[in-house]
Amino acid sequence: MFLKRLDVIGFKSFAERISVDFVKGVTAVVGPNGSGKSNITDAIRWVLGEQSARSLRGGKMEDIIFAGSDSRKRLNLAEVTLTLDNDDHFLPIDFHEVSVTRRVYRSGESEFLINNQPCRLKDIIDLFMDSGLGKEAFSIISQGKVEEILSSKAEDRRSIFEEAAGVLKYKTRKKKAENKLFETQDNLNRVEDILHELEGQVEPLKIQASIAKDYLEKKKELEHVEIALTAYDIEELHAKWSSLQEKVQAAKEEELAESSAISAKEAKIEDARDKIQALDESVDELQQVLLVTSEELEKLEGRKEVLKERKKNAVQNREQLEEAIVQFQQKEAVLKEDLAKQEAVFETLQTEVKDLKAQVKEKQQALSLHNENVEEKIEQLKSDYFELLNSQASIRNELQLLDDQMSQSAVTQQRLADNNEKHLQERRDISAQKAACETEFARIEQEIHSQVGAYREMQVKYEQKKRQYEKNESALYQAYQYVPAGEIEKRHA
Ligand code: ATP
Ligand code: MG
Repeated sequence: MFLKRLDVIGFKSFAERISVDFVKGVTAVVGPNGSGKSNITDAIRWVLGEQSARSLRGGKMEDIIFAGSDSRKRLNLAEVTLTLDNDDHFLPIDFHEVSVTRRVYRSGESEFLINNQPCRLKDIIDLFMDSGLGKEAFSIISQGKVEEILSSKAEDRRSIFEEAAGVLKYKTRKKKAENKLFETQDNLNRVEDILHELEGQVEPLKIQASIAKDYLEKKKELEHVEIALTAYDIEELHAKWSSLQEKVQAAKEEELAESSAISAKEAKIEDARDKIQALDESVDELQQVLLVTSEELEKLEGRKEVLKERKKNAVQNREQLEEAIVQFQQKEAVLKEDLAKQEAVFETLQTEVKDLKAQVKEKQQALSLHNENVEEKIEQLKSDYFELLNSQASIRNELQLLDDQMSQSAVTQQRLADNNEKHLQERRDISAQKAACETEFARIEQEIHSQVGAYREMQVKYEQKKRQYEKNESALYQAYQYVPAGEIEKRHA
């Protein structure tokens, strides 16, 4: 086994990663004061497990991390890896090369690795324990230590040499063995104390044991008695259970019958409900019809009033027309009289005309020179005649108009009488319909009443049956309580 390489980064003055290869022939590291020679040995001691910051020439462990310089910022991590050649398997580990790494962070966390595998500090210490390389093994003697060795007493020096010669591991083992011996002695002492204490308890325990024995015997006896009693109870309960089972069976059958009867009644109730529902609906419909009919009736009443009013007016009109007819008839009579007079006048005039025409004829011959005046007179007479004819025509027209008006008012009167008759018939029909609706409504109301009565009766019967059923059920549960649970299953099986 020999030291092969040392890799350092962030440890003390080594801000940059350095790698020192201890090739064959390297026997010393030289350099000016403060160049970091001692820092290399510190790094080796640290990676081998040094715990004391003081022996690494620092106040606390954080001080070993590069603290920064004028030109460089401080670092937060220090890492040292020591590589050893283990071709001869001097170290008890199955590798040809062993590298041990230690890291510390400013936060205080630290890590240990053997061949890059995380491990505990103890593993590293154990690895080097018997190798003479441990931190206290004096393979590394630092600057101050030489002085200490030289100035110490002969006995102290001897112990230093002994340790350096590899006595340490035996010393450690001895110390461990001594500690174990001490612990064992302690345990022995405790055992003796306990024994002493227990000896005092032996006598009362003996008494307690005999009491316990007695108790166990009595308990056994009691168990026998209890078993016998339980067997007797079981028999009794079994008999009870059987009779109750029969009752339960009977109750179940009754319950079945009752429940089917209840179902039938429920179906009937449901039926009755449906009927009531249907009746309700038909009542609603009829009420609707009644409402519509009443409205119609009201409208017809209104119309009847209007027609009455109209009839009244028509009667008044007729009276007026009759009066007018009477007046016209009187007028007609007067006119007829006038006409007769005029006709008489006309006739006299005609005869006069005739006479005059004859006279004219006579005088025409006599007075042929003076016929101009006669012709004028004839013309006058002609125009008189035409006037009379005109007035006769207008009187005839007036008479015709009066006739027409009279026949028209007779037609209107007939029409009004017809309408009146029609409305009276309608009114009679509606009254009959209303009466029929009222009877139907009364009948439906009566039916609903009787159906509700039947439903209530059924409800009462149903409640009674239900109570009976609940009573039976609770009796059944009570019966179950008298039978042990296992027994019921067995019975069921
Ligand atoms: P000498 O010949 O006097 O023994 P040396 O070569 O052994 O000197 P070391 O004692 O190894 O030198 O190195 C000391 C140097 O390390 C000092 O300059 C010191 O400032 C520096 N140093 C120590 N700790 C740290 C740190 N945490 N960060 C930066 N530099 C540090
Ligand atoms: Mg030094």
